[in-house]
Amino acid sequence: MFKRLLASLAGAAFIGAVGAGLPAQAQDYPTGPITVVVPFSAGGPTDTVTRLVAESMSKSLGQQVIVENVGGAGGTLGAARVAKAEPDGYTLLLHHIGMATSATLYRKLPYDPKAAFAPIGLVTEVPMVLVARKDFPPNNLQELITYVKEHKDEVTYANAGIGAASHLCGMLFMQAIETPLTTVPYKGTGPAMTDLLGGQVDFLCDQTTNTTNQIKAGEVKAYGVFADQRLANLPDLPTVKEGGLEGQSFAIWHGLYAPAGTPEPIVNKLSEALKAALADQTVIDRFAELGTAPVPADQATPAALQQKVTSEIDRWKPVIEAAGEYAD
Ligand code: ASP
Repeated sequence: MFKRLLASLAGAAFIGAVGAGLPAQAQDYPTGPITVVVPFSAGGPTDTVTRLVAESMSKSLGQQVIVENVGGAGGTLGAARVAKAEPDGYTLLLHHIGMATSATLYRKLPYDPKAAFAPIGLVTEVPMVLVARKDFPPNNLQELITYVKEHKDEVTYANAGIGAASHLCGMLFMQAIETPLTTVPYKGTGPAMTDLLGGQVDFLCDQTTNTTNQIKAGEVKAYGVFADQRLANLPDLPTVKEGGLEGQSFAIWHGLYAPAGTPEPIVNKLSEALKAALADQTVIDRFAELGTAPVPADQATPAALQQKVTSEIDRWKPVIEAAGEYAD
């Protein structure tokens, strides 16, 4: 409240001084580095996407866009940090579907996903893939299902905490096979993948932005993609439906946010910079290598992201309630 009051006083003082137009902070913005909080560990899928976009946005905004990793509690710690930040355009958040699922998963979320942020735009939708350590016995999805059911007290499923995409995917998988499994939470799937490669955990469902290279290098076993069609960058990998797993087809949408109260001209400037980054050939090419693509320009807008957050909260609420999985 206090920071909002200060911001509006500063705006009012400026308008008083020059008579009209935008507050000084919005007109000159940005005059210094911008921090984008990734609510997961460095080296993971959200981090990878954010760093590519941030580097390109730095060019069009003429200021450094720095990525800061604030992992923990399935992305809610980083989101909470940005919800409380100054609404001045210098602290942003790049979060994914967890913005919507956390609304139901957490009984006491310290922010309101629909009201605590000024959405800037959607970024990308990333498919999810089921992978396991290289020497995990099952060789295809049917074998995996049989194996984890038979060894349900021994197998370990890695995720990035309640609210993470890997959590949602694991929850859907366990629901589909009607078998709860032991989960091992990390601050992001970057470190989860490190442990998977080291054989400390058995399997993981993660975004192609963190699994493509490992699958191609034969460092992990891949069982299927949660998509309606096979992926262009991993054409040999069946969809989970081909493998006999019915259920949700979903992708991990990512969005860029500022704290609520950020002046509209700043939000619009950031949305334009986001659009420019998503049209940057380097970003497009890297995204394609990692099994994803930028959203169309008309989705990289505040309205499209606001609509997505709302519709996705509604979409996942009954699914999460049916699973009965909650966190405090
Ligand atoms: N996207 C998260 C990360 O970057 C992981 C997850 O959502 O499961 O680590």
